[in-house]
Amino acid sequence: MENLNNKMRSIMFAFKARGLEIFTDANLTDRFVMTRLVCSDCSAFFHTNLQECYLCGEINYYLLECKDCDTKRSITSGSRMCRICHPDTDITEPETLVYKCVNSKCVSNTDSNAKKEINNSKNEGVFKRNNSWNLSCTFCIECGSPKHEYKNFRVFLYAEPFDKTNYKEFTQNKENDDVIILKKYSSSKIYYDYQIIGGEYTPGSFDKDLDQIVDEILA
Ligand SMILES: [Zn+2]
Ligand SMILES: [Zn+2]
Ligand SMILES: [Zn+2]
Repeated sequence: MENLNNKMRSIMFAFKARGLEIFTDANLTDRFVMTRLVCSDCSAFFHTNLQECYLCGEINYYLLECKDCDTKRSITSGSRMCRICHPDTDITEPETLVYKCVNSKCVSNTDSNAKKEINNSKNEGVFKRNNSWNLSCTFCIECGSPKHEYKNFRVFLYAEPFDKTNYKEFTQNKENDDVIILKKYSSSKIYYDYQIIGGEYTPGSFDKDLDQIVDEILA
């Protein structure tokens, strides 16, 4: 007999890669369970890795910004030198990219003393790790509630050749908030789609890759 856990391995990994806790049951090989922190009041996902600016409450978008010309760059870019201010690749050039707060009205961007103190090459901006100017979000970003709880979501795999009638039958015994990942093989390629039971999106287009799907599910 085919081991469904094997088929689900890449899917489980895509969730695990985003830091989610995954549980499997040896007796239930068509599914796994993921655990997420949700808001107790509106049940939106609670993003515990989110940070906010202590000064203005703006969220960390994980960007580097030049303190001189405001050019933004992803934090994955290795260099801390701004190529707009310093187009020549001279290694002695100052590192002006810092982890600034993106809110232009934030004190860290408007007050000249605060700017000098926070956005310098020593403190490296509001969102530099372990700075006292940022803190983990402790409120729901949707409704502002501080209450949260863990909730389990069941994730199923539908790997049959996609067929509307058959799929409808498959979803019959599912509950609201169950996640179904649809997987389809076509000319030796794999295509994915998904559905959250009770959600708005209806599957059938198979035009997303697994990472996109996981991002949409967790958004
Ligand atoms: Zn701020
Ligand atoms: Zn610059
Ligand atoms: Zn909420």
